[in-house]
Amino acid sequence: MIVDAQGRRFRNLRVSLTAACNYACTYCVPDGKRLQAAVAELSAAELLRAVRLLVESAGIDKLRITGGEPLLTPKFDEFLPAVMKLPLTDVSVTTNGQFLAKKADIIVSSGLKRINVSLDTLNPLRFRTLARSGDLETVLAGLELMLDAGLKVKVNMVPMKSANVDQILPMLEYCLERGIELRFIELMNMGHLKYSATYHRDFFGMDDILSLIGTRYEFARTDAPFDSTSVRYEIPDHASPTRPPGRAGVFGIIANESEPFCASCTRLRLSSNGYLYGCLSSTKRHPIADVLKLPDDQARTLLQSRLMGALGDKQTVQFKGEVTVMKFIGG
Ligand code: SAM
Repeated sequence: MIVDAQGRRFRNLRVSLTAACNYACTYCVPDGKRLQAAVAELSAAELLRAVRLLVESAGIDKLRITGGEPLLTPKFDEFLPAVMKLPLTDVSVTTNGQFLAKKADIIVSSGLKRINVSLDTLNPLRFRTLARSGDLETVLAGLELMLDAGLKVKVNMVPMKSANVDQILPMLEYCLERGIELRFIELMNMGHLKYSATYHRDFFGMDDILSLIGTRYEFARTDAPFDSTSVRYEIPDHASPTRPPGRAGVFGIIANESEPFCASCTRLRLSSNGYLYGCLSSTKRHPIADVLKLPDDQARTLLQSRLMGALGDKQTVQFKGEVTVMKFIGG
């Protein structure tokens, strides 16, 4: 197993099934990039083999299926049931939720236990402005379907000063009522935002989020796994009807800027066109298309050198962001 000087190794793999997305969220891509897949995307079978090799070579034990929009591609139907059979301790899917109803049978029959839905507002008009597509009611119906099927649901929200800060409390209330963990993702200096004034104008960080929540709720910091990206808080006495009695409501903040987690980062990304990325703050990428042409034993050997390269890209302290676009490298 490859470990770096800071003691970090890869444990969490994020696979982008396709770069295509039915949304074009304002913070992710400039307008006009909707539905754009990457050139030469790998098939479901190639992505599966890559994941299996990475599990064997890097010691990956957690997998997140993402994109682009993973539920948009037919690859999802083959990929999800197959990865559920791999020796992984955790598999999850990150989706914008628009196709949850359509894919519910595959999701439930695969045995998937948890799902993350990205949702930035409960206001239908604002939803269309932010995502530049989609329909809020469809997402909420899909989300309820997942809860009814017994999946653990987390919701991801990116708060932005000019767009949805007034939605923080309504979103938290919505999630607490349903036993959903809401996670606020601090706006990342990624893609077209990297050199844009918009980023600094719109950034609404951890202290601001906590101050706002403090106007309505009492909360206390609680435990999170050592390599967790999120700082977690409990709101006592906010047990939802779907949670066991006495359990507090929980929310989290993925505080890339305010409390960077680079020092304990265990993440590796595989893009839909077959490149490994070791760090969001680096544009460096490591191809695996040639690895996939080799028999397993040779493939594992070559993969080791690519993994060393990717691990070497990790930053030591500070998240800086990069011009790489989340939907291309697997957000
Ligand atoms: N389509 C899926 C979805 O919407 O969840 C998966 C891909 S999307 C790129 C994954 C996550 O990246 C979403 O939660 C989105 O909010 C987040 N994201 C994209 N660009 C971001 C940025 N600049 N800052 C913070 N989060 C970002």
